[in-house]
Amino acid sequence: MKLFDVYPLFDITPVRAQGSYLWDDKGEQYLDLYGGHAVISIGHTHPRYVKAITEQLGKIAFYSNSVQNPLQQQLAEELGRQSGYADHALFLCNSGAEANENALKLASFATGRKKVIAFKQSFHGRTSGAVAATDNPKIVSPFNAGHDIVFVPLNDAAAFEAAMSDEVAAVIIEGIQGVAGIRVPEDRFLQLLRRQCDAHGALLILDEVQSGYGRSGKFFSHQYAGIQADIITLAKGMGNGFPVGGVLISPGVRPCSGMLGTTFGGNYLACVACLAVLDVIAEEGLVENALETGSYLMEQLKKFPLLEQVRGRGLMIGFDVPESHQSLRKALLFKHRIFTGASGKQTIRLLPSLSLSKAEADRFLEVLQLELGS
Ligand code: PMP
Repeated sequence: MKLFDVYPLFDITPVRAQGSYLWDDKGEQYLDLYGGHAVISIGHTHPRYVKAITEQLGKIAFYSNSVQNPLQQQLAEELGRQSGYADHALFLCNSGAEANENALKLASFATGRKKVIAFKQSFHGRTSGAVAATDNPKIVSPFNAGHDIVFVPLNDAAAFEAAMSDEVAAVIIEGIQGVAGIRVPEDRFLQLLRRQCDAHGALLILDEVQSGYGRSGKFFSHQYAGIQADIITLAKGMGNGFPVGGVLISPGVRPCSGMLGTTFGGNYLACVACLAVLDVIAEEGLVENALETGSYLMEQLKKFPLLEQVRGRGLMIGFDVPESHQSLRKALLFKHRIFTGASGKQTIRLLPSLSLSKAEADRFLEVLQLELGS
């Protein structure tokens, strides 16, 4: 049997990883500035994380959600403390798409409405509802017909106000658009969304799957705008590689018993993985490090005349390369053994572990200097 063909693959086979580094089957070392697409938050194979999962595996790995699992409660409390959302409730699932799917479902049940406002170039996942709220011509689903979704340009206040009405169940927005190439919503735009959702009885869903968990330099990127969301979706960095998703739900959203659920969500291994991630984030000051190292990296990148539109927050950084240098990402990977992300042909995305050191950032800058000159 062969694998179903869904992803374009690089001919590289990582077999080991630690901190911000990967090693392939030939023993070559790679600097990881992609974090497996913003998944690695506390560094690869952090000893605390490995120990927590390994020990739990020897105690109890799984039972169904029909019994009490105190680890879930512990996780909810710790996540509430670190995120500043102590009053919200946590629903645990297994991926970002599943978190968004449930968020949209919840919003529809809570408001009795079906219409959703999403944003141009958004990406929310590939399940039916999540893909319907995704504005990408290459990522669609034949089941989309039943969804009532309007796409508005990001940061366009007039277009948003024109689309908003008392029929809207939810507005769903990425804290920072990731797949689109790192596009940051303006603070005042998020504040407008908050006011308009309140005025029209709609729920504001913040997709923090990629931008959350400290990556932006705050626990959630929408906290730069000083607003609170009704529903927040999480995945990626939450488990540092262990598949897990989460939905944080405001106490004002009424439960829809029996409508949300998943066999694996909140399993013991996922919980201890997530708890270890939160412990390390707090103890090692990784939110602060994301801000400090990210700001330094962004400042230095802005000094390269060839790089256009350096943008982002914390360790979620994007920049465009001119047409003459569109092989830069391949050169970084195959010549200098540095993983980065892409968006289209022009944009390079940096989504490293939140533990990235200044020395690791400097190594990348030195390589850029070699490839681009200053
Ligand atoms: N939302 C955002 C903002 C994402 O970047 C992604 C993944 N790239 C998803 C949702 C979907 O997450 P998953 O792949 O875990 O379903």
